[in-house]
Amino acid sequence: MPEQPTDDILHVLSQTWGHGAFRPLQEDIIRSVLAGQDTLALLPTGGGKSICFQVPALARPGICVVVSPLIALMKDQVERLRSKGVKAEAVYAGMSHQEIDQTLDNCVYGPVKFLYVSPERLLTDLFRVRVAKMKVNLLAVDEAHCLSQWGYDFRPPYLQIAELRELLPSVPVVALTATATGQVKQDIVTKLKFGENHRVFQQSFARPNLSYSVSATEDKLQRLLQVVRGVGADKTSIVYARTRRQTEEAAAFLQQHQVPAAAYHAGLPAELRHRTQQNWMQDRTRIIVATNAFGMGIDKPDVRLVVHLDAPDNLEAYYQEAGRAGRDEKYAFAVLLSGPNDADELRRRTVQAHPPIDTVRRVYQALANYSRTAVGGGELVAFDFDLQQFAETYRLKALEVHNSLRVLEREGFVQLNEAVNTPARVHIPIDHRDLYRFQVANEQHDKLIKSLLRLNGGEIFTGFQKISENSLAQHLRLSVADVRKMLLFLHRSGIILFQPRHDSPQALFTTPRFDADKLPLDQKRLRLGRELAEQKTEAVIRYAHGGRCRQQMLLEYFGELDAPPCKVCDYCLAQKKARQAAPPVELRTRLLELVKATPQTPREVLTRFAPGEATTVTELLRELVDSGELRYAADGRLG
Ligand code: ADP
Repeated sequence: MPEQPTDDILHVLSQTWGHGAFRPLQEDIIRSVLAGQDTLALLPTGGGKSICFQVPALARPGICVVVSPLIALMKDQVERLRSKGVKAEAVYAGMSHQEIDQTLDNCVYGPVKFLYVSPERLLTDLFRVRVAKMKVNLLAVDEAHCLSQWGYDFRPPYLQIAELRELLPSVPVVALTATATGQVKQDIVTKLKFGENHRVFQQSFARPNLSYSVSATEDKLQRLLQVVRGVGADKTSIVYARTRRQTEEAAAFLQQHQVPAAAYHAGLPAELRHRTQQNWMQDRTRIIVATNAFGMGIDKPDVRLVVHLDAPDNLEAYYQEAGRAGRDEKYAFAVLLSGPNDADELRRRTVQAHPPIDTVRRVYQALANYSRTAVGGGELVAFDFDLQQFAETYRLKALEVHNSLRVLEREGFVQLNEAVNTPARVHIPIDHRDLYRFQVANEQHDKLIKSLLRLNGGEIFTGFQKISENSLAQHLRLSVADVRKMLLFLHRSGIILFQPRHDSPQALFTTPRFDADKLPLDQKRLRLGRELAEQKTEAVIRYAHGGRCRQQMLLEYFGELDAPPCKVCDYCLAQKKARQAAPPVELRTRLLELVKATPQTPREVLTRFAPGEATTVTELLRELVDSGELRYAADGRLG
């Protein structure tokens, strides 16, 4: 593959994004990709990873397939690309077979440049057959740490990427992540079957403008208030809480103290969630109190403060979340609040996160009943899933369900998808003539069809178009419920393909359903998983305990062993203060020697030191006189 001159890729960068220059490493990564080498790129959050696969993909003919684990993130990127005039598509759980079929067709025959796909789709027949027909120029693996069981977010379907490579033998792979320990890095290279001449690029994970600190307290809300006020209640901040209830309590507490704050979690209605996020993005509410559902894919550069009311389960998550502060490279704070029982609590949670196998089997069986999935069926069929309701229906504890599902997910049997707001969509699969015939014969539907055509234009014949049931209802002066009924009727009659609006979390079986008793859970692997989680928990506890530069501790965790102290974390600042408070012993000795050798006045002594040391020297002299080690002679000289 010929190398692209820098000018070409710079041209793509400025044409499509309006950026004038590459950030550190971006160009090296892009060049490596364009040279056809498998490439692993480790850049901290906000370092500009997307550019690293988007620019080379645009610089060449063909389509780039991007594997990404989170639907929300995927949709977000697709929207961003489209807003820049780049054709992008996505395929994920929750889309109908027809929709997937059509999207993939567009990628085979149309000028689509990016196809985002969630990993569990990779090996479906539908996908394999189509992808082999696409002119793929690059395979990008986003959040590549999901490939490794040593990471903190192992997703077994990611392992299927290796098989996808067999279908695309000469296509280079670029894997990207914002966190990876040495073990995870190695795992990514092996599991993705990187070629011999592969390259690894790693930018230091140091964040020189970010001051990490841990604040021990018995009253976290009160301390939160102090921290927020300390940094400034008018500064953009994120406060992370573990539970939905905590987000609401903490937001209410701040409000009671005249600090405007809003709660954000996945349990809020979609519209409120959206509004809360927008208000924060547009600086109308400066402080958002959120669960970790918030922040993924959000790109706000001027966050000055990230507070954690409780530590996450591992330092990877902490680094990611705290790292949302100060992306503009200006000074920012990451504060972890730590209570007296937090370490015990973290350990207890780690135990709970690994429930007994019997519990896991029970939850698997309940999930089969809930979704009415027969043994051998249900593979990749997504269904709406409300955890609370599920737990109540089957008399299970919500926490037990949550943790069992996580185990089933890590073991590759089940997948949970976050709630994403998908608007209603319509496609007309028949041609104008047939449609017209239907309209004439079914006058009661004529108006609705006309409105659909008027509001969406001809594109509705070539693919799914977003529609608003509300606008249609207004247009037709009907209720939304009636409009939906009519759309469903047209769908059943084969005149339109209608996907209703959707906003709830979903679950799916990633294999044909097993008999719960025969579910092949690997005891040994489960044990290893638990041990790994315990190690990660202990690392968090060590971090909170401190005693060293916090930045150094985090960097060491990610394999950077020789980082200098950051000078801005609570530990470094305390050290500095202590140094200033207690003058070094050598200064004391020097002073004593000097004055004993040649008695002199304090003024004379001072001329021998730098002006910056005057205060310290004066204080030391006073101390030495007080302690009787030095004495004034009658002529005012010290000796
Ligand atoms: P990551 O995925 O690493 O968290 P993104 O790819 O979302 O980061 O990029 C973060 C932000 O940095 C985006 O707003 C992006 O437009 C911006 N960015 C990336 N590369 C450059 C560049 N070379 N010059 C200016 N801004 C950039």
